Amino acid sequence: MHFCDGMEQPKKIIITIDGWSSCGKSTLAKQLAKELNYVYIDSGAMYRAITLYFLRHHVDWTISTAVNEALKHIKLEFVANHKNGQTEMWLNGENVEYVIRDLVIAEKVSEVAAVKEVRDFAVSRQQEMGKAKGIVMDGRDIGTVVFPHAELKIFMTADEAVRVQRRFKELYEKNPNITLAEVKQNLTHRDYIDSHRAISPLRQAADAIVLDNSHLTMKQQLGIAEKWVKERMK
Ligand code: C5P
Repeated sequence: MHFCDGMEQPKKIIITIDGWSSCGKSTLAKQLAKELNYVYIDSGAMYRAITLYFLRHHVDWTISTAVNEALKHIKLEFVANHKNGQTEMWLNGENVEYVIRDLVIAEKVSEVAAVKEVRDFAVSRQQEMGKAKGIVMDGRDIGTVVFPHAELKIFMTADEAVRVQRRFKELYEKNPNITLAEVKQNLTHRDYIDSHRAISPLRQAADAIVLDNSHLTMKQQLGIAEKWVKERMK
């Protein structure tokens, strides 16, 4: 796929991908970033890393002074892993990419992500990363709050049963004791909190395009998104 057909220098754009838990946002975001040679930012990893820090340091996230104090000690970085070609989340100099995917973190992350101070902290860093454009960021509020003027906004969705199966498969590889019921419960719980919280709830931006990938292969979903990218780059 050539994005610069007939153009000398294709316009760099911001692509936002929001949607429900486990509907394949990060897969599509990574595919697009690779094709376009763009930066990929997994905003959920930031909330997961903050949650990890809070749990390890027994920070009570219902107390704003405690949250503000803790945030002063948190340094988040996305570091490229040259062995697997992926960008990984580092917290205060430690690679936490693997540990933040655990269900223990997933169980608390939506509560932590609903805290105003936490969101201000994460959103300001996300906006900083998008200043030069040429970025694909996935999350829950990227098209509505982080980059409301993004050139391409995708809102992803998929049937709940499909999403549960996908996440189960992912988590089962790490922990064969996990059950489908646990995964489903976590997904439903997170989606509920994420879409009902007071600050920046998960919403489809008015100008977002819906991509339902329940019955699409990875190749098909990329093909659809590529067409949209081409249009927006003109
Ligand atoms: O994308 P992922 O499932 O890893 O995100 C973990 C959690 O982080 C979400 O369930 C949500 O609570 C929070 N999140 C958020 N805003 C974002 C990205 C993630 O509130 N932009």
